[in-house]
Amino acid sequence: VEILGGELASPLRIVSLVEESQRLAAVDPLTGVRNRRSLLEALGPELARTSRQGAAMSLLLLDVDHFKAINDRHGHAAGDVVLAGLGELLRRELRGVDLIGRWGGEEFVVALPELTLDDAARVAERLRQHIAALSLDDAPGERLGVTASIGVAEQLPGEDLQALIDRADRAMYTAKSQGRDRVVASSPSALHAVA
Ligand code: GH3
Ligand code: MG
Ligand code: MG
Repeated sequence: VEILGGELASPLRIVSLVEESQRLAAVDPLTGVRNRRSLLEALGPELARTSRQGAAMSLLLLDVDHFKAINDRHGHAAGDVVLAGLGELLRRELRGVDLIGRWGGEEFVVALPELTLDDAARVAERLRQHIAALSLDDAPGERLGVTASIGVAEQLPGEDLQALIDRADRAMYTAKSQGRDRVVASSPSALHAVA
C-alpha cells in the first residue's frame, strides 16, 4: 500500500495542480469573479443551452459610477478596495448558476439563466440598492461609498452573445445619461427605465 501510495501520489498531485492552475487562470484575482475570457467560455455553451431549450436568459452589464473620481480622490488602492468589495457583493448576492465576470476595469457582466427581463431587472435593482448601501473601508480609515449603473437585456430568439451584450451596454449608457445609480432594461421595442 505504501509503495502504491507513493506511485499514485505524484499523478494525483499533478491532477490537483492542473485543477488549481485552471481555476487561477479563470478567476480575476482582484474581484474573485471570472475574468473576461473565462466568462466568454462559459457564456457560449450556456446561451446555446437556453436557446435550445427555449428557456429565458438575461444579462446585466454593470458599470461603476464616477470610478475615476474615486481613484483620483482616494488613490488607486482605494479603487481596488471598491472593486474587490463589488466582486464579493456579487458573489454573495447572486445564485450559484449565475455567471459573474469582470468585463473590464470597473465593469461587470452577469448572466442570469432562466430569468426573464422583468425578473432580471428586479435582481439588478436589488444589486443597485446593495451597492449604494455599501460602505467600504479605505486604508486610512475613510469610508468609501459607491454607486453603479446597470443595463439589463433578455436574449431574443436566435440572438447571439455579441448582440445581447451590445443591448445591455446601450441600456447601461442610457442609465448613465439619465443620471447614473439606476437600472435600465432594454426592451425589444424601446428602452425603459425601471428605477
Ligand atoms: P462613469 O460614471 O461615466 O462610468 O465614469 P467613470 O469615471 O467610472 O468612467 P471612466 O471610464 O472615465 O473611468 C474608469 C476608471 O477606472 C479609469 C481607470 O483608471 C479605472 N480603473 C480601471 N481598472 C482599474 C483597476 O483595476 N483598479 C483601479 N483602482 N482603477 C481602475
Ligand atoms: Mg466603464
Ligand atoms: Mg464607470
